[in-house]
Amino acid sequence: MSDLPSVDGVGGGLGGVDADDVLIHSVSLVDEGVRLDDAWIAFRNGRVHARGRGGGWRERTARAMRDGTGAILTPGFIDIHCHGAAGAGFDDPEAQADALDDALTEHAAHGTTRLVLSLVSAPIPRITNRLEALHEYVALRPTVLGVHLEGPFLADSHCGAHDPAHLADPDPASVDALLRAGRGNIRQVTIAPELPGALSAIDTLVREGVAVAVGHTGADVDVVRDAFAAGASILTHTFNGMRGLHHRAPGPIAAAVESGATLEVIADGVHVDPMMIGFLHALAPGRIALVTDAMAATGCEDGDYVLGSLPVRVRDGVVRLRDGGSIAGSTLTTATALRIATTRSGMSLPEAVASLTTIPARAIGRPELGTLRVGAASDAVLMDEELRVRAVWAEGREMPRPA
Ligand SMILES: [Zn+2]
Repeated sequence: MSDLPSVDGVGGGLGGVDADDVLIHSVSLVDEGVRLDDAWIAFRNGRVHARGRGGGWRERTARAMRDGTGAILTPGFIDIHCHGAAGAGFDDPEAQADALDDALTEHAAHGTTRLVLSLVSAPIPRITNRLEALHEYVALRPTVLGVHLEGPFLADSHCGAHDPAHLADPDPASVDALLRAGRGNIRQVTIAPELPGALSAIDTLVREGVAVAVGHTGADVDVVRDAFAAGASILTHTFNGMRGLHHRAPGPIAAAVESGATLEVIADGVHVDPMMIGFLHALAPGRIALVTDAMAATGCEDGDYVLGSLPVRVRDGVVRLRDGGSIAGSTLTTATALRIATTRSGMSLPEAVASLTTIPARAIGRPELGTLRVGAASDAVLMDEELRVRAVWAEGREMPRPA
């Protein structure tokens, strides 16, 4: 890559003043669609301070030196659809800051350095209360990229694991109440575009800087086309909660591919056949965002849990509604999504890494994230060749490993 900065004049020095905080060397660096072997990278003050290839790292001093021989280093993963982990759901009014931190730590152990807190459908006053309660939490944690409201503006016909009693139309009063309570923290809202008022709600949200996702919808291709023309830019967990691709009824997936939208997909091998993820990637290269849709049971034993207000049962890591048995979120982690995308969906490693880094970052309006270029945040994942996570740094701090 020709835009790598020269290392001349950077680093060196004998004492602590000019030392790097972390220096990872002799690693295969996968970043922004490119794989660079024998690379090194230096973190300082939570930023990428310098990087290069070859032996230039030997001239530097660092407080922590890491030999990455045989390992792969990528930017930290960004999950734009995640409901919780470690027993805590982000929408649970009982879940306090330490429980939410445990959920973030669980996901960080598997590579997620930044995420959006997804909240399931609930009565509007309950969501506005939760937004108020989360305000300080989000403000104090730069690794939390805001809130995703996956509801309540969803279609009854495709509500999945959302309580149908809590669904609502996106009328201006409800949209305004949510925006007010969100105080700038709402990054993404999922809407079924066939609902009354949906197009004007999309317009309002996009003007407020919110990324609007189409999802949990029974709409046909024309209605979804109108939603993307009105400013929607993401398709929520493609294939799940919507009509499929059909040769005489193209549906929301075709509309999203046509529009240039980002397509979320849950790469747990259960929600979507991995082969279809490969097909989707061929249809929309550079626009697939791998998401977990992980819920509170992630990182926990199989058993009975609650998603929003609905009881679910987890067996072999698969989450199903206790009533009816439809799949309801996942216990997926980003590292597993990366392994499935590369080993079973035919995506190359740089493509799959982009689907967990630059692509989701761009989708929620944070294009400066998801890269390890000089000056970027020092969020990184070190993995072995089988893509098992060996170490994770968020803002330059090494995250604790799972027990
Ligand atoms: Zn969903």
